Amino acid sequence: STRVDIVQCAKTYPDGTQALQPTTLHIEPGEVLALLGPSGCGKTTLLRLIAGLETPDAGSLLRFGDTDVTQLPIEQRGVGMVFQHYALFPHLSVAANIGYGLRIRGTPRAETERVVGELVELMRLHGLEHRRPAELSGGQRQRVALARAVAVRPRVLLLDEPLAALDAKLKEALRDELADWLRRLRITAVHVTHDQQEALAIADRLAVMHAGRIVQVGPGEALYRRP
Ligand code: ADP
Ligand code: ADP
Repeated sequence: STRVDIVQCAKTYPDGTQALQPTTLHIEPGEVLALLGPSGCGKTTLLRLIAGLETPDAGSLLRFGDTDVTQLPIEQRGVGMVFQHYALFPHLSVAANIGYGLRIRGTPRAETERVVGELVELMRLHGLEHRRPAELSGGQRQRVALARAVAVRPRVLLLDEPLAALDAKLKEALRDELADWLRRLRITAVHVTHDQQEALAIADRLAVMHAGRIVQVGPGEALYRRP
């Protein structure tokens, strides 16, 4: 489990939009941090900087543990990602989707099968191992996407509105499960959402953004009263 240091990280897009003002934020090993705020406040930009999908402005520093990852390409950062519509491989079974990252890294077959079996149990996907994504419900697909993202034991797990495409009832159920998995897996995670209830249920700490800045950061109960 990895500490993330974001030090004076800023992002100006080529068209001049200052999506992220210089921002400093430290995420503890195993901590789940939610990024909250209105549309356009810079949540996705910050997430994409951590992922390595965007290059930050000069003077920015990003560290995973002792490693300076500021200039490191995405494939060398050890991040796992789950998006709202993160396409699973449609031609692969559930088990093959979950094991994909391990397989391409040359992990021995027995080890891959062990990890896939564990995640199938944890994510309650038992009996669905041989189905294709098209034969799953929306909630089941997101559980497979999560299992696939964590199978390779990423240093940092990035979640961008992973539950936003689900209906209200399913969202509520899956959010409590997600909170539970993240604690059990002890993965450092950054979770972007504009759903306050989701953030309170899942995250250890919340960072509230506004107009490219983090304007508040702390545990949920310090920022919001319980409903
Ligand atoms: P959020 O995720 O909170 O909705 P974003 O990080 O997507 O916010 O966007 C922050 C700001 O940066 C917005 O003003 C948005 O319009 C702008 N923006 C996002 N992506 C780009 C881009 N590729 N080029 C120019 N501006 C962008
Ligand atoms: P349903 O409501 O029946 O679950 P969706 O509207 O979620 O259907 O999905 C529509 C299409 O988008 C489907 O063909 C499905 O394969 C694809 N799709 C949706 N979400 C995902 C996802 N998380 N991963 C892969 N494919 C997805």
